[in-house]
Amino acid sequence: MGTIISGGTVVTAGDVGLADVLLEGEVVSALAKDIPRAGHELVNAKGCLVMPGGIDPHTHLDMPFGGTITADDFKTGTTAAAIGGTTTIIDFALHQKDKSLREALDTWHKKARGKAVIDYAFHVSVADGRDEIIAEIPQIIETEGVSSFKVFMAYKNVLQVDDQTMFKVLKACARHGGLVQVHAENGDVIDVLVNEARAAGRKEPKHHALTRPPQAEAEATWRAIRLAEMAQAPLYVVHVTCAMAADAVSEARKWGLPVYGETCEQYLVCDSSDYERPGFEGANYVMSPPLRGKADQSALLCKLKNMDLHTVASDHCSFNHAKQKELGRDDFSKIPNGAPTIEDRMAILFHYGVNAGVIGLSSFVALTSTNAAKLFGLYPRKGTIAVGSDADILIWDPGAARTICAADHHMNVDNNIFEGMQVTGKPRSVFLRGSKIVENGRFTGSAGSGVFQKSAKFFPIQL
Ligand SMILES: [Zn+2]
Repeated sequence: MGTIISGGTVVTAGDVGLADVLLEGEVVSALAKDIPRAGHELVNAKGCLVMPGGIDPHTHLDMPFGGTITADDFKTGTTAAAIGGTTTIIDFALHQKDKSLREALDTWHKKARGKAVIDYAFHVSVADGRDEIIAEIPQIIETEGVSSFKVFMAYKNVLQVDDQTMFKVLKACARHGGLVQVHAENGDVIDVLVNEARAAGRKEPKHHALTRPPQAEAEATWRAIRLAEMAQAPLYVVHVTCAMAADAVSEARKWGLPVYGETCEQYLVCDSSDYERPGFEGANYVMSPPLRGKADQSALLCKLKNMDLHTVASDHCSFNHAKQKELGRDDFSKIPNGAPTIEDRMAILFHYGVNAGVIGLSSFVALTSTNAAKLFGLYPRKGTIAVGSDADILIWDPGAARTICAADHHMNVDNNIFEGMQVTGKPRSVFLRGSKIVENGRFTGSAGSGVFQKSAKFFPIQL
């Protein structure tokens, strides 16, 4: 016996229309106008949107940062993600300089296995360009099911790599079917600015933003694009925050380069004035790159509308205000970077994108699910509703309103940067591979039901 989701408006990245969807086993087995009931369980989705479960391609769960560790692990983080409508995350396995990429992946498999309640895949970061690390890249792609490799142009003396390392990673990925992801900020310039600010006795959270100007992001984005062009490699720019950097991505695409851009919902609705919040509350908004001005928010929305940016990820990286963000009370550069954003990603984009009339329903699905599946080798198993695809289904009530609030969110953290925002549109039910895991804001699935998903090689695609 299967489940028929009946009477809803089915939305994919390509189409919108009334249809029934039959889930049998773990997959979608039929999509048609009226599917005969034939003993199947019936779920009435009238008045709701039926969409592929969200794919969040940028999360940090159970991750060490600056002497502390993120507040959410794979259990709490993926539970909150599910309640928000996401059925797959792609988390970053962080490589450590003296170790192998394989060891980073082993560590992350241990963190996720038995804890994740939704499906998960991995990207792996590359912290150094030793020959043996570059030689590992094809093996990782062929045997580990991981095809995306992240390099950091910022976080000097910690994660930052030089251009030579980045160029080698790009070349290896171009040859073997990998996709390089880049954190594009000029870490050398930022290091100078941070040291100057500290020497001048500047302590408050706002100096985090003032020492990481948009020019530092734009310069690094351009440099990354040129390096990728010389290496004949595809490039994915994570968390694009400002017009200057987004323009670089658009410009590269005009020349026909396979360059893709991601932004995050917080850059659409929070801005640099949040750093001026009273007390030490501004610390909750410290993330890298930092929040920008209102003009940049409009520019990013415009880029999403035109599909000049391709994914909206959360970059979820949660730290409690108490005892974690407070580590930087006397020094803005010691505030752990990141915010809890995994749960509200889809609601924020729906409200400020779809309800505001900026993007249509199919674009919403493309930006929250389909494009990530295509870029990271999960499509068409994930990221769409089609016969044979995994039955990861989100039944979305477009008229349900709520106010975002840390007191009742499901992330394991004491703050929410969207606190007080009123949003309309939320999941009614969520299915993971045919099983219902969320019902009316409550997690109803079972512990550890998430399964690791192998990513196929990167294939250049038109998005
Ligand atoms: Zn990140």
